[in-house]
Amino acid sequence: MTVARILSEKGSSVVTIQPHRSLADAIHLLAEKRIGAVVVAETDGVVLGILSERDIMRALAQSGAAAFDAPVSGHMTSQVTSCSRSATVEDLMQIMTEGRFRHVPVVEDGHLVGLVSIGDVVKRRIAAVEAEHQAMRDYITMA
Ligand code: AMP
Repeated sequence: MTVARILSEKGSSVVTIQPHRSLADAIHLLAEKRIGAVVVAETDGVVLGILSERDIMRALAQSGAAAFDAPVSGHMTSQVTSCSRSATVEDLMQIMTEGRFRHVPVVEDGHLVGLVSIGDVVKRRIAAVEAEHQAMRDYITMA
C-alpha cells in the first residue's frame, strides 16, 4: 500500500505550528489535537522542522519551566526526513525504524501534503497480515 492510498483514507490535513511560537503553545496544540508531533512550517507549507513530545520532554529536562517560553525553533528537529506519496508502507517501516522516529511528513514539490504516523503504518500492516492469513485459511479449507 502506498502513502497516497493512506492519505486518501485518513485525509491530507496536517497540524502545523510556526517556528516563533512558544513550546507552551505547542504543548496546548498537541493536547488539543491529541497528537504526538507537530510539523513546523510558515503558512507557505514549506517544512522547517518537526517537534515531537520527546523534544518537549528533553527541553523540560534541560531547562525546567523556563522551557515553556522558548521558541519552537530552538527545540525542533530541523533535518526532517520526509517521503513522497509514492512511498510504500514497507518503505515507511524502514524509514521509521532506521531513523527512530514515529512521524514522517509527506512532501511534494517542496510542500507539505500530509503526514504518516507509526499508528497509520501499524494499522495497514496488521490489515495486510490479517488478509494474508484469511486467504491462507480459505485456500486450506478449499483444498
Ligand atoms: P517521534 O518518535 O516522532 O516522537 O520523534 C522522536 C525524535 O525524532 C524527535 O526528536 C523528533 O523531533 C524527531 N523526528 C520525528 N519525526 C522526524 C522526521 N520525520 N525526521 C527527522 N526527525 C524526526
